[in-house]
Amino acid sequence: MNHYPMTINGEAVDSSDRLEVINPATGQVFATCALANEAHVQQAVAAAKTAFKTWGVRPDSERKALIHQVAACIEENSEELIKLITLETGKPVAGLGGVGATMEVMGSAGWSHVTADIDLAEEVIQDDETAYVAVTRKPLGVVASVTPWNWPLLIAIWHVISAIRVGNTVVIKPSENTPLATARFVELANTVLPPGVLNIVVGRGDVGQALASSDSVQKIVFTGSTHTGKRIMASAAASLKRMVLELGGNDAAIVLPDADLDKLAAEIFAAAFHNNGQTCACLKRLYVHESLYDDLCRRLAVLAKQVKVGNGFEDGTELGPLQNEAQLKVVEDLVARSREEGGQILAGGERLPGDGFFFQPTIVAGLSNGNALVDSEQFGPVLPVIQYATVDEAVRMANDSPNGLGGSVWGSDVGAAESVARQLECGTVWINGHGGIQPDAPFGGIKESGFGVEFGRYGLEECTSIQTLKIHRG
Ligand code: NDP
Repeated sequence: MNHYPMTINGEAVDSSDRLEVINPATGQVFATCALANEAHVQQAVAAAKTAFKTWGVRPDSERKALIHQVAACIEENSEELIKLITLETGKPVAGLGGVGATMEVMGSAGWSHVTADIDLAEEVIQDDETAYVAVTRKPLGVVASVTPWNWPLLIAIWHVISAIRVGNTVVIKPSENTPLATARFVELANTVLPPGVLNIVVGRGDVGQALASSDSVQKIVFTGSTHTGKRIMASAAASLKRMVLELGGNDAAIVLPDADLDKLAAEIFAAAFHNNGQTCACLKRLYVHESLYDDLCRRLAVLAKQVKVGNGFEDGTELGPLQNEAQLKVVEDLVARSREEGGQILAGGERLPGDGFFFQPTIVAGLSNGNALVDSEQFGPVLPVIQYATVDEAVRMANDSPNGLGGSVWGSDVGAAESVARQLECGTVWINGHGGIQPDAPFGGIKESGFGVEFGRYGLEECTSIQTLKIHRG
């Protein structure tokens, strides 16, 4: 069985404690990983702090070139990383609509290349005979990154590459469920980066807690649940750390009466079900005008029955298992509650037999706000379809949520759809699409979906502090 070490200060670091990593398609342990203790956390933070002294002042062009090399390293090792991601997350190599492990790895490389080429220019506020005033950006220091299990490599890249691009150093803690692709990525990146710039500690929540409360950490970037985000924010308060929190979403989509279902039904299905619904910005509540409701429910049920669920290594598999048994239980409980609350299961509704954590793609009609499956983030292959009569009612129901990550509006009159989209309370709105993100446009949530943004210039700015420079003249 393969064993994966951590990487601290450019060195492979093992531990007497080992974490067993489960393949969710079989329920069996397939590899082990070194498990950190508090001393490892201190060691990693100290290494990052030392490395910051030189990395933080290194010429921008050199950091940029090294990040392109890290991206090339991901490309060269893509086959191994794709295999690891499919083994530890269960997600298919290809996946529904091409959303799978291959996209995760190649997307990680592409994201790194694009981010490497984004520059933060000095902004000149005043330049005259009395003064020169400019806003400059400085790196913060050691950044702690805590990542979840749904997109382990891609989210690691989002956290790490932006931070090091502008001169910070990083200690990353991946989810205990999916540490391997991240551990291997950090090992590979360390063949390019100077020691201490990127370090990894693998452990459970207590390791994340130790990292998040370290006095030497200047910023925390966290992607995961709202509950854990609040705990991390409390740990960070003592030393007033900067934070970006990308927390859970319960994204609403509104289908307007003029939507062309022949064109859009399959896209709506994919937006809700890719990666088995385990993406923060998956479409999670679907509000459909009464004139289209029965038709769209029927089409979605057909698609849910047709989609191919299985082991991610089998050709043609579109959806794999849930990533972990606890998440499978969340999904099972929500479906059971939706039955009790009067929901009609139009497709799926059951766990699949066997040791893997598989659940049938499920469409539930007849629910509304106030029902558990609508009000909470299911993070699984289950979609509630809710009927509305007026657009105002749909907007009110969509906004009636503590979350505010993404939202979408689907319709033929794009102008009308846009005016509805602008009323949604969320960080990103899409029209005739849902969840499409890109490395040069900011992404982040509002309300209990967190704060701060990632990606593009705005994301890089979050990894810096402002220094105002004023030169008095005359
Ligand atoms: P968590 O939010 O608990 O975990 C995310 C990361 O935080 C993991 O690396 C976890 O470590 C770590 N962590 C846990 N507790 C602490 C702590 N006190 N201090 C620092 N780090 C900590 O997510 P779960 O895995 O428990 O998933 C639960 C729910 O979160 C899901 O049902 C889903 O709703 C949501 N979620 C949202 C995601 C998103 O992309 N926004 C991604 C994943 C989940 P470890 O796993 O090792 O305990």
